Amino acid sequence: MRNLRDFRSKSPESSQYAEFAQRRWDLLIVGGGLAGGLLALKLREKRPDLRVLLLEKAPTLGGEHTWSFHSSDLDPEQVAWLKPFVKKSWPRVTVQFPDFERTIEGGYHSISSSRFDTLIRARLGQSILVSCPIREVMRDEVVLKDGTRLEASCVIDARGWLPTDETKCAFQKFTGWDVRLSEHHGLKHPVIMDATCSQSDGYRFFYLLPWDNRRVLIEDTRYSDSPSLVEEDEEAALRSYIESKGWRVEEIERREKGVLPIPLFREALIRSPGVAEPPAIGARGGFVHPVTGYSLPRTLRSIDALVENCTKWEVTTVTNQLIDLHQKESAGDGFFLLLNRMLFRAPTPVRRWKVLRRFYSFEQGLIERFYRGALRRSDRVRLLFGRAPGVPILRAFFCILESLTPMAHEPVKALIARESPARLSEKRGSV
Ligand SMILES: Cc1cc2nc3c(=O)[nH]c(=O)nc-3n(C[C@H](O)[C@H](O)[C@H](O)COP(=O)(O)OP(=O)(O)OC[C@H]3O[C@@H](n4cnc5c(N)ncnc54)[C@H](O)[C@@H]3O)c2cc1C
Repeated sequence: MRNLRDFRSKSPESSQYAEFAQRRWDLLIVGGGLAGGLLALKLREKRPDLRVLLLEKAPTLGGEHTWSFHSSDLDPEQVAWLKPFVKKSWPRVTVQFPDFERTIEGGYHSISSSRFDTLIRARLGQSILVSCPIREVMRDEVVLKDGTRLEASCVIDARGWLPTDETKCAFQKFTGWDVRLSEHHGLKHPVIMDATCSQSDGYRFFYLLPWDNRRVLIEDTRYSDSPSLVEEDEEAALRSYIESKGWRVEEIERREKGVLPIPLFREALIRSPGVAEPPAIGARGGFVHPVTGYSLPRTLRSIDALVENCTKWEVTTVTNQLIDLHQKESAGDGFFLLLNRMLFRAPTPVRRWKVLRRFYSFEQGLIERFYRGALRRSDRVRLLFGRAPGVPILRAFFCILESLTPMAHEPVKALIARESPARLSEKRGSV
């Protein structure tokens, strides 16, 4: 136990966190979002001997989120472990395009952040500090907003997305409402892409999760070149989609929105921090699928492997383990970057949907391996060769060339610039 003089220097007088500063922690996890919460819970189950404190700046854990995943993204034991968090599961999902509809069999599950908050709090009790913003995060110490210092053998950074080089990425934007309708919506299972809507601001689709007969999450999603999200425009688009379905909203029960970077080049990939920074998990540590922007599968796999294999919970060992795990998870990311460029740079924005339509015409095994991030060589060949209709072959070729040499960036940019406004407007709406 620290002596009184030592303790005073760690905590400003009358800090509400004084008792936390008095203790020596094995692990401090900064950020009580998806990754921080799951790691804290795993450790409570597998290593109850460790003194772990989870610190979150917001009043609740997990923010305003719905996190979904396919059964095939994870091992069956991992799906079973997540079950208590799952608000609803369905046996199949559909995708819809103007000229094509497909049902994909296999479990699909959605976690709500409010359930996540309730469960993690119930299980971790006193080992959580909410409404507690952190000013500084070091490898073995954090400084709270009021200046209180907490020490640990290891600090793990789970503060979510890092800003990235916006010139080297595109964006996935979401605006969603959980609504209660006046009548049955008629949906039997989730529609993970309804791309029959007008295409604007890049590739656009609606995402629908039917919670019960009248409650549904409706999310306007765009694969866009710009990160801007104008709330009134997004809300007007949601209203007009709801109207087009003939639905009447009794109440908007919850709102969520967000913008995720979709990396086009290596420079925009979120990397695992180096040996001099605090080890990081979740989006902060780059445990994200580069095409979907989803982090749940990679985050849970890395947490499981860390908790299983880490013999010494001190900062160097944890850092090295996470660097190794990141390398393993991101080994195939070069190919995903190429797919991102094929999506964002080869077709004109209004024709991006054709790339996705082609993707969803492949057999289910390939689709599952894509989401899981475990593509085979034969999958890569099939994804790359055989062009989506409407995607200019020269642009597609240059996207591949860009993977081999950065010298190809300029010709691709020039090709894109040559797309005259007249041609673009002619194509707009021609889905
Ligand atoms: C609208 C939307 C929908 C998504 N849907 C899915 C999906 O269906 N499936 C999927 O796998 N992924 C999805 N993602 C992507 C990704 O999984 C989420 O962004 C996920 O929440 C990332 O988890 P995380 O724990 O790394 O970061 P976050 O969940 O963002 O957690 C970071 C936490 O750190 C806290 N924090 C930040 N700074 C500080 C500080 N200084 N002091 C204290 N606390 C701090 C934040 O308040 C936050 O709670 C979605 C993203 C968005 C935006």
